[in-house]
Amino acid sequence: MRYLRKQPLKKHCSIKIGGPADYFCQPKNVSDLKDAIMFAHEKKLPIMILGAGSNLLFCDEGFKGLVIKLVKGLDWVRVVRTKVTVGSGVLLSKLLSNLIKNKLGGLEFLVGIPGTIGGAVVMNAGAWSKEIGQFVDSIKVLDKSGKEKVFKRKNLGFAYRRSVLQKNDFVVTEVSLRLRKSKKSVILKKIKEFMERRKGRQPLGIPNSGSVFKNPKGAFAGKLIEEAGCKGLRVGDAQVSEKHANFIVNLGEAKASDVIKLMSRVQKAVKIKLEPEIVII
Ligand SMILES: Cc1cc2nc3c(=O)[nH]c(=O)nc-3n(C[C@H](O)[C@H](O)[C@H](O)COP(=O)(O)OP(=O)(O)OC[C@H]3O[C@@H](n4cnc5c(N)ncnc54)[C@H](O)[C@@H]3O)c2cc1C
Repeated sequence: MRYLRKQPLKKHCSIKIGGPADYFCQPKNVSDLKDAIMFAHEKKLPIMILGAGSNLLFCDEGFKGLVIKLVKGLDWVRVVRTKVTVGSGVLLSKLLSNLIKNKLGGLEFLVGIPGTIGGAVVMNAGAWSKEIGQFVDSIKVLDKSGKEKVFKRKNLGFAYRRSVLQKNDFVVTEVSLRLRKSKKSVILKKIKEFMERRKGRQPLGIPNSGSVFKNPKGAFAGKLIEEAGCKGLRVGDAQVSEKHANFIVNLGEAKASDVIKLMSRVQKAVKIKLEPEIVII
């Protein structure tokens, strides 16, 4: 496995923003991942784990440490009846294709979320009143010293866009899910419906990081931002999407500092406290 120097992080996230990583690698398997953890340990480098980069904002200065990109690396799916075990780098789109083939239902709501299963579990990704945490049976992680641990769902503290994994240094390597048998036609119908709803509401095709703020209790962040008159608000090339006010889009050369300024303008304009959903690195 190669360790690249000064890799531009804008190439590795959906909003296309971010300076260079001091060191960058893409493990193909758990053994490579353990090597990467040891490499960082020896050089005393902080580690940042990257999935598909679809829910984060890298800063303009980049990352002073080792970025370990897992998407498409730990990329396997194993199905035994209704138990599905996946490597954490598997994209949700690939997982869904597999579930359709195996006639397993439950996760249709994930269609259109451009992340990995590892990132989805850390963020407890969800849509249309469902969350991935509901379907997790257990996960495998590596700790800072490269040792394996297993966590059952009850110990993962899943809540709205939250899990205990956001507060510690574990690397998720494997996720086991409990699903249910369904009919292919039913799964496909649900996927089509969810995708159509998404297409009608979100600025697909323009670089973004998904929902910028969490929904406050009993309200929708997008509606509050729109009512505060922020749709279309712009700092540099960062703009509050005209299509969905809880998305910030990169119109070309936006910097992380533009996005952060724009986020704080939105937070000031909205009366209720808005907490960021995107992870700022
Ligand atoms: C157009 C668009 C639509 C979206 N729609 C939705 C939606 O409907 N619902 C929703 O919840 N989200 C949505 N998102 C956000 C995002 O796609 C999800 O949160 C996704 O699950 C994140 O996965 P990722 O692999 O991209 O994670 P990243 O963005 O790469 O990482 C997110 C966080 O998880 C950590 N992480 C990632 N993988 C691991 C791992 N294996 N081990 C430990 N830590 C890890 C990272 O360090 C980071 O802190 C959307 C994003 C976009 C761009």
